Amino acid sequence: MTATSTAQQSTGDAWLDAVAAAEDAEGRRHDRLVREDQVQRLNRQLLGPRKNPETGEWSKRHRAGTCGLPHGQRVEMGYVTVPDGLDAGQLRGVVVCAAGNLCLRCAIKIAAARARQIVLLAAVMKALGFHCYMVTPTFSHARSDGLALSYQDMMDAWTALRQSRLFRKLTAGGGGFCRQVEVTWSLANGFHPHLHVLVWSKLDLDADSDWGPSEVDEMEHALWREWSTQMAKAGRNVSEEHGITLIRADDPAMGRYLAKVGLELTMGALKTGRYDSWSMWEIAATAADPDPKIPVEVRARCRALWAEYASVVGGRRMFATSHGLLKRAGVNEVDEKAEAERQHGEFVPYVAAEGSVYSAADKAGVVPELKGLLASRTAPEVLAKVLGRRLGRPVAAEPPGGGNALPLFRWASGPRVDCAVEDAQVRRSRATDSRHTPVAVGQDVKAHSPGGLKLPGLRA
Ligand SMILES: [Zn+2]
Repeated sequence: MTATSTAQQSTGDAWLDAVAAAEDAEGRRHDRLVREDQVQRLNRQLLGPRKNPETGEWSKRHRAGTCGLPHGQRVEMGYVTVPDGLDAGQLRGVVVCAAGNLCLRCAIKIAAARARQIVLLAAVMKALGFHCYMVTPTFSHARSDGLALSYQDMMDAWTALRQSRLFRKLTAGGGGFCRQVEVTWSLANGFHPHLHVLVWSKLDLDADSDWGPSEVDEMEHALWREWSTQMAKAGRNVSEEHGITLIRADDPAMGRYLAKVGLELTMGALKTGRYDSWSMWEIAATAADPDPKIPVEVRARCRALWAEYASVVGGRRMFATSHGLLKRAGVNEVDEKAEAERQHGEFVPYVAAEGSVYSAADKAGVVPELKGLLASRTAPEVLAKVLGRRLGRPVAAEPPGGGNALPLFRWASGPRVDCAVEDAQVRRSRATDSRHTPVAVGQDVKAHSPGGLKLPGLRA
């Protein structure tokens, strides 16, 4: 092989690698979008507004059940260029719930802001002469334990622990803590609520010892005694070995460890597949996953677990800081609503949809695909065609004008329609059907495909 061809090949390889990396990132983003959408649709079913069949009135339920629904008459669609260089499809004019416990789409944004807040807080506290420790208290529980009870027992014991003389000694002199509740689930042990706590202390406990337990070990044991005493009041056992762990989180040898701790603390629940346990996001996504390989019982169980989790943690504060800590450190509280609404990068809208068209797309589960197409700036006419096929009902892209700055997707009707289905039979059936009425939001879109015809791309 000549030098030239080798160089050409390595350039080609580099190019292929770059393409593979881009596809990989694209794939991960698509997977995330799909999971976000699955959680959102499950929340819509379990927590969303319900129509009273007798009065016709809509009852309000948890706000997480409204995330992603159109705000008003139209939804603006476009893209932003995100830091990884890939464009992201974005929407304006849909509800943002900011329910960090229940909505994956909002939780990711809020957790990222929390992680930044913790890293900043840690840097300030370090400069003020505090040492940082990570405390993880756990307790034993059985599969039959309901989440509500074990959650309450844990929080009662935690309140007693942080008010104990020992803990006050640990945080004396202007120290403090932040804590995050995490809930996982495993087949063997059921719901596993637990705490991750970062503590700032003036105490400089030595983690090393030449002989016998270190100062950190001794403090860990003292905390274990306090924690197990409190849990015993609720009749619960605390493992001697793993009941509570205390580690130094600011060991200089660990380099960027603290940044990792911040992420672990806030984003831990977003990770998947640790120790055979499921994150609640995995549970929710599985419950709403249309994959036919998932057995009906598994989906039903996931649905029930998510409903129980939502009823227990729905309105709770999973993240909290000790009183006055942020103020003393001069760190702002995270505005969860603003973070959930934040667009990273500049939003460039180039097409809009009528509320009912967007609702149908949302109901049919094609929003992740739509966002992917928006990210690659697919022409409005093509987008309309794809939407029409997925929804089984023609969608037209009306050119801008008459107060519309953007092309507008609306249900196509009448003869001047740019129809996605160019089937003579369909045209005939539409010509004879003069009672062609618009679809009410929320009606099953399948019911509106022309009778007995197979439409391209229509979900079975
Ligand atoms: Zn949300």
